[in-house]
Amino acid sequence: MPLKNEILNRWLGRVDAPSEPQPLLAEPAPVSADWHMQLDEEGRVNSISKPLRRALGISAALVPPQRLLGYLMPSSAMVVEGAPQDWLGHMLDLDFKRSNGHVLHTRGWVQAQGESWLLQLLDIGDLMEEANAAQSRQQCLRLAGQIAEKVRGCHVERLQAVTADQLEELAQQYRVPCLALALAEPGGAGWRIYAHYNAHTAPQLWQDGQRLGTDLDSLNGTVTHQIDFSAPSHLVHLQSAFGNAEGFLLPHHKEGSVKAWLLFGFYDAAQQVPELGDREWMNLCSALAGPILYRHADQAHRHQLERLAVLQDLLGTGWWELLPDTDEVQLAPQLARTLGFPETSDVLPLATWLQLIHPADRHELESRLALLRGHGTAMLACVRLLQTDSTQASVWLRIQGQVLVSGQTRRVLGFMLDVSDIKNQETEAAAAHARLDNLIASSPAVIYVLEYDQGSLEPSFFSASLTPLLGWSQAECADGLLTQYIHPDDRDIWFQRTRQLLREGVVSCRYRLRDKKGEYHWLLDEARLLRDDLGMPVEAVGLWLDVTEATQATERVRESEERYRILVEDSPAMICRYTPDLILNFGNRPLADYLDCTPAQLPGINLGEWFSAEQKEAFVRRIDELTPEAPMSTAEICLELPGREHAWWIWADRGVFDDSGKLIEIQAVGRDNTEIRRTRMQLNQSAKMATLGEMATGLAHEINQPLNVMRMAVVNVLKRLSNGDVEVDYLTEKLNRIDAQVQRAARVVNHMRVFGRRSEIEQQLFDPIDAVDGTLNMLSEGMRGKGVELKIGEPGARVQVRGHVDQLEQVLINLMVNARDALLAKREKNRDFEPWIALHVEQDEQSVWLIVEDNGGGIDPRLLERIFEPFFTTKPVGVGTGLGLSVSYGIVEQMGGRLSVSNSSEGACFRIALPVVRE
Ligand code: ADP
Repeated sequence: MPLKNEILNRWLGRVDAPSEPQPLLAEPAPVSADWHMQLDEEGRVNSISKPLRRALGISAALVPPQRLLGYLMPSSAMVVEGAPQDWLGHMLDLDFKRSNGHVLHTRGWVQAQGESWLLQLLDIGDLMEEANAAQSRQQCLRLAGQIAEKVRGCHVERLQAVTADQLEELAQQYRVPCLALALAEPGGAGWRIYAHYNAHTAPQLWQDGQRLGTDLDSLNGTVTHQIDFSAPSHLVHLQSAFGNAEGFLLPHHKEGSVKAWLLFGFYDAAQQVPELGDREWMNLCSALAGPILYRHADQAHRHQLERLAVLQDLLGTGWWELLPDTDEVQLAPQLARTLGFPETSDVLPLATWLQLIHPADRHELESRLALLRGHGTAMLACVRLLQTDSTQASVWLRIQGQVLVSGQTRRVLGFMLDVSDIKNQETEAAAAHARLDNLIASSPAVIYVLEYDQGSLEPSFFSASLTPLLGWSQAECADGLLTQYIHPDDRDIWFQRTRQLLREGVVSCRYRLRDKKGEYHWLLDEARLLRDDLGMPVEAVGLWLDVTEATQATERVRESEERYRILVEDSPAMICRYTPDLILNFGNRPLADYLDCTPAQLPGINLGEWFSAEQKEAFVRRIDELTPEAPMSTAEICLELPGREHAWWIWADRGVFDDSGKLIEIQAVGRDNTEIRRTRMQLNQSAKMATLGEMATGLAHEINQPLNVMRMAVVNVLKRLSNGDVEVDYLTEKLNRIDAQVQRAARVVNHMRVFGRRSEIEQQLFDPIDAVDGTLNMLSEGMRGKGVELKIGEPGARVQVRGHVDQLEQVLINLMVNARDALLAKREKNRDFEPWIALHVEQDEQSVWLIVEDNGGGIDPRLLERIFEPFFTTKPVGVGTGLGLSVSYGIVEQMGGRLSVSNSSEGACFRIALPVVRE
């Protein structure tokens, strides 16, 4: 080829270093070509050289004398207009028709040769090809430029569509049936078709978004350009990319690795565009893929920045950077805003920045910053902001910083984050934790954690209160050791507890655990099993509470209750509890026996059923008088039990009151007093009879006196009758006197009979004056007969006392008979002695006193205390019984009163005090 150019240039006068411009074809160059034709003046072909004939595929025999135009392509017709004369000095580019239909490109010139013209020709087919190729490459470059420009310039949202357009452009330009651009998946996991073009006539090889897997990666590095797909190995690898189709693919490298592939399907580039080389194809690929990747990276970067900005905005925080060589710091706009700097000034002096920090933390931050700057030590500090308002909660900032080195540059930057929430929560949690720790440490409780391991629970933690409480250390309670400390009697409970905890997730039990000193503690153990999200046990958390004291106290109470229960049940006394309306809540066996039922039948029975109306009234009245201050009351009560005579019980009640002082229940203990009562009544009766016996002399006198009066009257009447001096008035007067005396005697006898009777069961209300009158009726005559003066006081207002009138009479008789005996004994010694007995009544609102006084000299003071004892007497045997005063004392006491004695100046003075019953 260089040779050919040289020939042409030389012929045309284009020498490499021409000395001076030469006129066009000044003289024919002494060159000749293999191909030539002989033409006549008219331009008709006379002969064709043999090589040219061969090149055109014409046989020698067939050369007809015809015009040159007949051998040429129509495009060359312009070149050979006119005659050869006209063509002289011109370079003629002539395209010949070849017999096989192809074109033979030639360049030539004419020379005169005598009459005819010699047309010399050179084959310039290869020169033409080269020029075409160059043009094609230029066009390719232009196309690449256009593509890059379009992709760079379009709106990012249209990027994919524009890419598809460019692929179409490319495909149409080079007649590619299927064309696609594959980009690497984010994270490097394979490839995905980003955009594609498919000619209508070609089968669809790819579609947008299609995944190509990692097959293409295996080509990375081994493939730099076109691939021979006839090699079976590549076909296998790339079947997913091409099916079984023929094609090739181009990689686009960036930063040392393939980032995109341009895929050509059903395409043989060498055949379709032979003039384009690898470089051109790679150029095209880069022109498309490069800008797309750039724009993607750009967009990702922008998104990243936006995300960062949003993040910083949301957190009210951001980055900071120390500017090199100045003492200045630059803050992210959001951070500057949060810290209260105007938005325009995101660069500020370091000192100003530090001024924001609380003085307590400032020094630490400064020193850490210095370390960061000087030594590159990564920085992490939690600092508080300086606040003007001390009432507000502290604002905590976490400041992190590090040195970033890239090449020669060294940057110091970091991040500031508001961690007030966390920090304040941390502070609160720490305080709560400390409080809890304190509480646990000072309480008799141990908190423990058991770790779950394949069905067994092993201690992994005990609170610090373990050692003060039990003496054991954590280690001494680990791995099975604990079981040894459990009381042997409680081991079953211990093993049962673990099983229940695993099965039911919660357990509460008590057992004894030995402490280090060997003493057992009662522990209340409450534990709960914690499970993970899948329901698998993870650990158990529990609490030991030392309940030794409480347990022992409960045990003591239980034992004591048991003792009392036995005591109550086995007691011979009747014990019961009843409500203020007399309904029994409980009664023991002795009570049930009395009431002819079983203890179980007692609750619900009304005690009032066994009382007479008076008894019930008196009982209720007594219960009503109970108060929290005086909750006790004792009485002898009389009951009418079924199938029995009267029963007499000594009954002690104790009221139980609620907080407001209201009586809610009565506890009572009773003892059967019937026998004693009966004996006492008999005793009373005997004493009464004895009194009557003693009174016999006095009584005889009482009867004698009316008899004497009657006898005198009868004697006087008889004397008058014998004289015959009988007047009716006289007779009537005498008979009336006799009648009065008969009535008087009858009264005495009647009273004696009544007095001699047994007393009534029930007490009655009566006026004590009645007893005084009854006594005097029986005694006064006898006393006077013995020369004893009776001094009877004036009766006061009527009052009422409760008891038996005959019994009070008995008391008065006893006192007066005792006084009479003392008086008569004294008169025996002194004949001039004038004995008297005074009986009078005194009274006030609450009480009435009956006072019996004599002038018999009184009682020896040494005997004063003994005279009320039964059988105490100073009288001779057979005279005194020693029962009078003792029985009298009992009677007065039964009436709720009191009998007392004292010595006056002249004799003894007995006082009966009785409570007055108000209506
Ligand atoms: P008795 O009369 O059978 O001896 P009492 O119990 O009635 O039994 O009296 C006890 C004693 O008290 C009497 O023996 C007597 O010594 C003394 N006594 C009782 N009343 C008087 C009195 N008025 N003056 C002096 N002594 C009295």
